[in-house]
Amino acid sequence: MYYGFDIGGSKIALGVYDAARQLLFEKRVATPHDSYPAFLETITRLVEQADAQFAVKGHVGIGIPGMPETDAGLLYAANLPAASGHPVRADLSRLLDRDVRIDNDANCFALSEAWDDAFRHYPVVMGLILGTGVGGGLVINGKSVTGRNYITGEFGHTRLPIDAMTLLGWDIPIRRCGCGQHGCAETYLSGRGFAWLYHHFYHETLEAPEIIARWHGGDEQARAHVERFVDLLALCLGNWLTVVDAHLVVIGGGLSQFSYLTGALAERLPRSLLPVARTPRIEAARHGDAGGMRGAAFLHLTD
Ligand SMILES: [Zn+2]
Repeated sequence: MYYGFDIGGSKIALGVYDAARQLLFEKRVATPHDSYPAFLETITRLVEQADAQFAVKGHVGIGIPGMPETDAGLLYAANLPAASGHPVRADLSRLLDRDVRIDNDANCFALSEAWDDAFRHYPVVMGLILGTGVGGGLVINGKSVTGRNYITGEFGHTRLPIDAMTLLGWDIPIRRCGCGQHGCAETYLSGRGFAWLYHHFYHETLEAPEIIARWHGGDEQARAHVERFVDLLALCLGNWLTVVDAHLVVIGGGLSQFSYLTGALAERLPRSLLPVARTPRIEAARHGDAGGMRGAAFLHLTD
């Protein structure tokens, strides 16, 4: 059995999966905010309940919104004040007497999709989240690549490529990103970036869903905006794929629900790739909100 915990600022979700990766049991509880002992106890109690229910000693994986473990063994996550700054992996491994694995939620998203029945045969899977921010993860042969700092796959914090300037105009404002750098792709390609670009070109303030609704209504300005956005996404993705050379790109986050994007992207991508490159398969994410639990559980599917 594989127990996956998706730990967020308000809720802890546990999913129990069997060896065929089918969800057998699911439970949600509130995330303790103040007390580290209460945080540990919440997780250990859920694990003990699942062990008793399924009469096994299940594998435990955890996805968190932050840094799973520093060199000193400490977890850092701004939205998890009860756990941040504590040696969570070591403490839970000791309390539960098993190897607890922790990864960040973007990597868990990528892992969840890479282990979909229809996708699992692809050796290199790139997960790309187009949501509040632009993040993602990289899965190679079923295993999440964490790198030195768990930032593998943080595609949104690469800066705009030079051909983006040709597309958007050389006078495009170089925006400051939340990470402290300037010109990060995230500031143009996130849901908010989508709305910012619309405002930049048309001097009209609309949220992304409003622009997409206009697109569905056949509005010419919204149509032109979306075409430009797909071009921008294609050339940024082309750059990332020249590094990653994935077989499959799975797109998640709010903008992935705009299905026109994924189809148009596959058509436009080849011009941003090396001439010899075959275009990867591009799909919208299939597991949505369950991704965090699934990916966390599947941290144990490989050694
Ligand atoms: Zn950034």
